[in-house]
Amino acid sequence: MIASPVETLFYVLDETATVLEEELQCTYLEAIAESGENLFQQTILQEELSEITKKRIQKKYDEIKLEQLSKEQIRKSFQFAILKGMKELAQPNHQMTPDSIGIFMSFLVDKFSHNRDQLTLLDPAIGTGNLLTTVLNHLPDRNIDSIGVDIDDVLLKLAYIGANLQEHPLQLFNQDALEPLFIDPVDVVISDLPVGYYPNEVRANEYTLRSEEGHSYSHHLFIEQSVKYTKEGGYLFFLVPNGLFESPQAKQLHEFFKDQVFIQGLLQLPTSLFKSESSAKSVLVLQKKMEGIQPPKEVLLAKLPSLSNPRAVEDILGKIDSWLKVNKSR
Ligand code: SAM
Repeated sequence: MIASPVETLFYVLDETATVLEEELQCTYLEAIAESGENLFQQTILQEELSEITKKRIQKKYDEIKLEQLSKEQIRKSFQFAILKGMKELAQPNHQMTPDSIGIFMSFLVDKFSHNRDQLTLLDPAIGTGNLLTTVLNHLPDRNIDSIGVDIDDVLLKLAYIGANLQEHPLQLFNQDALEPLFIDPVDVVISDLPVGYYPNEVRANEYTLRSEEGHSYSHHLFIEQSVKYTKEGGYLFFLVPNGLFESPQAKQLHEFFKDQVFIQGLLQLPTSLFKSESSAKSVLVLQKKMEGIQPPKEVLLAKLPSLSNPRAVEDILGKIDSWLKVNKSR
């Protein structure tokens, strides 16, 4: 059986990373980053490798003609290799955002910002960049300048290499995103937020959404930080736990929203996309307040059907379209 272009690139990445993992004594994920960088630079950068190993790896790279692959094909192969590496990690908060969610987010970004050709886009928890590059690949006609932030240097390196291979201009910052960011406010924020407690209480104290007692929720602080770095009238799309408005700190969150943003929608994703019902998530859509902008007449609330039911999905996307016609102020 002939391998598809996605499979061929995956095998090349996988086989070269397996060699690099052993030779460099690093993790498979780090080796994927090394191999991706070699592919992008079209040379073998690891000086410490023997000539025989270099030749062995080069032979694999010669099987690939990157210029013949689409951005989505490159992203998918890279994603399969990262998924393999992530199995070793088992860190729920570091998991890549699945394609289906990225594609749905790109639909929302497209619809809510349809009147802007030029956009600045921030993902303050960019991780491997899979969510961001999925969105970029599905909005090929837009001129988008993207910014990504992540505290994890290995994931950020993967984001950097993935963006290079897919030829997306991307500015990256390896830092705690809840520390001050050295960026101008953006038009759009997208993020699959890290959920849990934020350990830095000193920094948390600078936030309105800090907890009065004990550790604060990092996802709440991320929302506040993202709103701060969004232009007035700009949109924010967050992947949040379904129970966001049922937590002990929900009252504070409501007050913060009332003051700063208009809640546009809360779209519950199908439970089948998640490991369990308790880990299921929704997409929260916000618009930062601005003079002249009205809140929606009603908030868009919907439960998305299983993605294996295309007719039901089409139906809900149609409903979102109709809602936008009636409720979107600008
Ligand atoms: N969308 C990403 C992707 O497709 O790979 C996955 C995001 S993952 C659910 C959440 C990310 O938040 C992880 O990459 C983690 O390293 C990052 N993170 C957690 N706490 C952070 C912090 N304080 N500052 C910046 N990044 C943080």
